[in-house]
Amino acid sequence: MSDQTEVIDWQTEWTELLRKACPDAHVLTDPIELTAYENDGLGFHRYQPDCVVIVNSADDIAPILKVAQVCEFPYTIRGAGTSLSGGPVAVEGGLIIHLSRLNKVLEINKEDMYCVVEPGLVLNRLNAYLKPYGLFYPPDPSSGFASTLGGNVAENAGGIRCFRYGVTANYVLGVEVIQQDGTLVRFGGAAAQGGTANSFNWTSLMVGSEGTLGVITKIWLKLKPIPEKVWTFLAEYKDLESSTKAITELVHMPTPPVAIEFIDNAVVQLVENSKMAVGISKDAWVILTEIDGPQPLVDARVDELKQILGRHGATKVSAEDDAEKRLKLWKARKVAGGLMGQLSPDLMIQDAVIPRSYLQEVLQFIYDQGEELDIPVLNVFHAGDGNLHPNFLFDNRIPGDIDNIKTLSKRLIEKVIEVGGTLSGEHGIGNDKSCYLDKIFSEEEINFQMTILKALNLNDQMNPGKIIPQRSYVGCCAPHKMQRKGNQ
Ligand SMILES: Cc1cc2nc3c(=O)[nH]c(=O)nc-3n(C[C@H](O)[C@H](O)[C@H](O)COP(=O)(O)OP(=O)(O)OC[C@H]3O[C@@H](n4cnc5c(N)ncnc54)[C@H](O)[C@@H]3O)c2cc1C
Repeated sequence: MSDQTEVIDWQTEWTELLRKACPDAHVLTDPIELTAYENDGLGFHRYQPDCVVIVNSADDIAPILKVAQVCEFPYTIRGAGTSLSGGPVAVEGGLIIHLSRLNKVLEINKEDMYCVVEPGLVLNRLNAYLKPYGLFYPPDPSSGFASTLGGNVAENAGGIRCFRYGVTANYVLGVEVIQQDGTLVRFGGAAAQGGTANSFNWTSLMVGSEGTLGVITKIWLKLKPIPEKVWTFLAEYKDLESSTKAITELVHMPTPPVAIEFIDNAVVQLVENSKMAVGISKDAWVILTEIDGPQPLVDARVDELKQILGRHGATKVSAEDDAEKRLKLWKARKVAGGLMGQLSPDLMIQDAVIPRSYLQEVLQFIYDQGEELDIPVLNVFHAGDGNLHPNFLFDNRIPGDIDNIKTLSKRLIEKVIEVGGTLSGEHGIGNDKSCYLDKIFSEEEINFQMTILKALNLNDQMNPGKIIPQRSYVGCCAPHKMQRKGNQ
């Protein structure tokens, strides 16, 4: 045995093994192709993977994980890559396993109101499949046109309707997961409508696991009947204070609305200056809210909703039940993030949850902080859930801008914690917010989490560098050339 250090072209070695292990999958190593996998929806945390495998079926995955085990490289699962917390990026290099081709609806059961899907299915496509059955899947992140159900489950995505319907976790009946050693396990399933097979809810362990506990390859989802009647309300206010008071009153209704969305004045101006304009006054702050249910019951509530929205100095309240016009209102809401790209080359979307009674205080705080640091702050978010998603506009090419973004994010999170809030409403922790984990959890609590992660994710090989900052892959892969001891 020689102890001479030998530099080997590890990338060639393991990409060949990957090609042999799953000949039908696409193995990408061209740096230009890898660029597309450098970042997620945040854009500015960039890490190039060493290789990407686009799998064609779930059967490809276990052989890939075996190669990863033998060659000792880290890997990260990717759905659509729309995460806003740095989740599907290869922070420590290695492999990205891209699941977008696992996009089949495997079963729709109208009678028992559930469906079984592959993880790469895009959320809005599921609802298109479900429509003829009179069913729908309620969680609706604004990224539903692109994000996958696997990504939604791994991030426990929220959305506009989640205020009343509940988030992804409330709809996952079961999951099939390929573990790190390639074995397949299943938790829950169609029969889990009424509870779990034993007292632990193992399915829920996988929900929100951000690709650190295995590869989710099949998902059982609970469905709901499409509501008979829907009314959407748009209320305009003169300032932040009056709009947040109306939110509180909506939340306190005995039968609350389905959605309560807040759109600040800067976002209103952006929408109204675009092709998506819906006729909102350009100096307004807006609440967009919705009720649904059986026609006579919902119609009977329209006046009550209008009165509540009008009580806090609203300058205009409108109610709409025409499907096309309602869709236009929601499109205007959902396109807001994309339109922000017209204002600045870079965008940071923060995510936190606060007790709703602090909404006005925390929003004013972050507007003031943005002004102090000369960073424009725009807000549009699911206010009913106490979510907070300030958008910070910046230009990464300007020296100091990214430091200001970090300062602003840190001040926001500190304020959120001060008022009793927490780190993530729906976007997860990823690598963007892992640095704040010790502000929320004690050392003992972090150790508890590490114990579970270490048991199911040996050497932190799956999605290293995420959620808990100490998580780093203990293997022999290095970002570019790997040095290995001879004869190993
Ligand atoms: C314009 C826009 C609007 C958005 N609006 C919302 C919103 O309203 N609500 C909300 O919650 N989020 C929102 N997001 C964030 C994002 O869309 C969600 O986090 C979404 O769930 C990510 O899905 P994805 O398919 O893109 O997953 P990816 O970004 O590819 O991955 C996300 C995480 O899940 C893991 N993962 C993915 N698939 C699997 C799998 N099969 N098994 C195990 N782990 C897996 C990845 O490793 C990663 O850690 C928005 C993003 C954008 C860009």
